[in-house]
Amino acid sequence: MSAPKPPNRPSFPARLDQNKPFFAPKLSQTTDVKKQVPRVAMEAAKGFSDSKFFINQDRSTLNHEALRLAMVRKLQHQGIHHEAVLRAMRDTERHRFIDAGWANQSYEDTSLPIGYEQTISKPSVVARMIELLLHDRPTPIGRVLDIGTGCGYQAAVLSRVCTEVYSIERLKALHDKARNLLRPFRLFNLHLLLGDGMVGYAAGAPYSGIIAAAGGTVIPTAWLEQLAVGGRLVAPVDVGGGRQSLVVIDRTAQGLTQQVLELVQFVPLKSGIA
Ligand code: SAH
Repeated sequence: MSAPKPPNRPSFPARLDQNKPFFAPKLSQTTDVKKQVPRVAMEAAKGFSDSKFFINQDRSTLNHEALRLAMVRKLQHQGIHHEAVLRAMRDTERHRFIDAGWANQSYEDTSLPIGYEQTISKPSVVARMIELLLHDRPTPIGRVLDIGTGCGYQAAVLSRVCTEVYSIERLKALHDKARNLLRPFRLFNLHLLLGDGMVGYAAGAPYSGIIAAAGGTVIPTAWLEQLAVGGRLVAPVDVGGGRQSLVVIDRTAQGLTQQVLELVQFVPLKSGIA
């Protein structure tokens, strides 16, 4: 399936072409983002009769775009190499998911409050988990179950590397918030569900991938049952002493295999809806 359409907004010459292969910006191009933006703006404005007006109108768009490119460059430095993941991170406007009070930190590698005592995950963790989820499979991978929609950011990134995403959230207020935030993106392969993700979503099973943004003491059996042969699950799990590790589980024709990876910090996986 082809990549989902970009948001339905007026196009802009500085926008990167989604159909072109992803090429990371050279280090020197994004080292000083503040210096880079006016140059980009000037180049983007070439050919327009009223360039000054145009630059002012789109300065914040350019700022966000430059910051997002710098964020992607950092992700590469941190070891994210999967081209489709880097492209999806580059194309998903994280600032649109961030509450006004935190907007200036939209492209910092930090988790931020999204209300209701929940947080949007750090970009490096989102990219790492999605890279693990895809591993060496061709993209887009098939159907994916995303547990813990939150504000919907990770679901939006996922929708760019999977054919179909079912994203489930147990808090009605956040489910509604994600629906509103995601509407302008017009991601037709992303389905938001209100429910208890601990029981998975059998109607969409089997899944090529299952990814969770909340961690419990065990991996719920429903997730393992709903994982396709050849599928992969990536989730945080409590490992004792108040610590959580990222766990990767693969279902092969022979059965399940598990890897326990680095320590992480996610909100708790809770049962029921609220
Ligand atoms: N991926 C999200 C991160 C949200 S934080 C983002 O990009 O913003 C994790 C979310 O998991 C919280 O919103 C929390 O309410 C939700 N959650 C916790 N337990 C859950 C469960 N059993 N089912 C569905 N969602 C759950």
